[in-house]
Amino acid sequence: MEISHAGVRSKLHVQTIKSQEMFQRASKVIPGGVHSNARYLAPYPLYFLKSEGNKIWDIDGNEYLDYFVNHGAIVLGHRYPKVENAVRNQMESGLAAGYESELTVTTTEDLVQMIPHAEMARFAGSGSDAVMSSIHIARGYTGRRKILKTEGAWHGTYDYACASYRSPLAKAGPKRTPRTIPESTGFVHEDIIKNTIVAPFNDSTALERTVRKNRRKLAAVIVEPIIHNSGAIMPKEGYLKSAREITEKNDILLIFDEVITGFRGAPGGAQQYFGIEADMATYGKAIANGYPVAAIVGKKDILEASGPDVKSSIGGFGGVIYGGTFHAHHLAVAACKATMTELKDGRVARHLNDLTKALAKGVEDISKQSHLNMRVEGLGGEFTIYFSNRAPSNYREAITTDSGNGTKFLSLQRYLQQNGIRLLPRHIYHHGFSYSHTPNDIERLLQGMRDWLDQSPK
Ligand code: PLP
Repeated sequence: MEISHAGVRSKLHVQTIKSQEMFQRASKVIPGGVHSNARYLAPYPLYFLKSEGNKIWDIDGNEYLDYFVNHGAIVLGHRYPKVENAVRNQMESGLAAGYESELTVTTTEDLVQMIPHAEMARFAGSGSDAVMSSIHIARGYTGRRKILKTEGAWHGTYDYACASYRSPLAKAGPKRTPRTIPESTGFVHEDIIKNTIVAPFNDSTALERTVRKNRRKLAAVIVEPIIHNSGAIMPKEGYLKSAREITEKNDILLIFDEVITGFRGAPGGAQQYFGIEADMATYGKAIANGYPVAAIVGKKDILEASGPDVKSSIGGFGGVIYGGTFHAHHLAVAACKATMTELKDGRVARHLNDLTKALAKGVEDISKQSHLNMRVEGLGGEFTIYFSNRAPSNYREAITTDSGNGTKFLSLQRYLQQNGIRLLPRHIYHHGFSYSHTPNDIERLLQGMRDWLDQSPK
């Protein structure tokens, strides 16, 4: 099917003229007009004014039903009153960065109680920061230097975890022993290639073989329990369990990167949902309903490897370095505490899971009646729409859906955006919704998809 973008695009330009003008202005002082490259979207990014509940407004005054929810960070809804009040109250204390307080201690206790198998936790500045420190801790604790990640997973911008995310298939190497391809210039590629091993997701045999081969030098295996950064590649029955067994047997740490899965499918995240006990887990995004804080959670003896040297009279840094001015920023931690209070009893996760199922069922029905194969995969309100008749089980299967170039998805995204529903225009990206989204909002998205199909040339 050939789908033209032209008509939709020109309407979009008329609707978003102020964003276009802002982009011209922004590009003079910000590379690409954005502070995070993922925000640049051709032909120009939108600039926003405000958000509330399930909606967001751009500077041209267009209202969108939001299916981006700040890269998944808004789990409860924009301007969720209990979170906003907690932040406002905390502001009164004047405490911001650089201090510990009763709040930073009790919120850590909340995390440790909510996350199964967690014994200790430490706040970090961002998901990338948490991943970086979890790898430093794993190396410091084990005395080994290599890590293993899965192809297609994104763990943020830490050099050694930032490889083989969007490997070009022609260069990606054998399916069961993928090549390590660093994602950025500016990284020391030789070091990353030497120290970051890549394995395919959902292939326990390949994982076991690679782990055994590298066991003497391998500190940790890090996985996104659901690879949301290639859409929503769900773990096959038994895969995460075998990852746990293989790492345990070979005395290697298992890190769950729960920066997206954290607190969505279950109050205790993917560890709870899938019943797996990781040695460490990293959290970000939804942990504070959009306020900037992240965390590492794990076993006591492992996290203690990053503690200060309490015997040093001159304030020693300890073994594994750990710190940051903005770690446990009080406004973000107040937001985290209020968010945890809302998530704790499981009602938010139930709502998110129910709506995810309703969306998947709705898309399945639409697909049956249309000439296109479409399906929704996801959990806890983080989902993707694959143009495929089957669920991809790894990166290579995911990237080749929708003709490998995302044409159909991009056409759908532009149509929806023009009609007030906003998904991010990225092929195999994760979209999301929050506790403030309703069954009617899911129906609106489904109706948008039906309308798009009706007006598309067959
Ligand atoms: N890990 C995962 C699974 C992520 O999806 C992301 C961000 O998208 C990160 C880590 C990095 O988090 P941050 O963007 O807060 O640095």
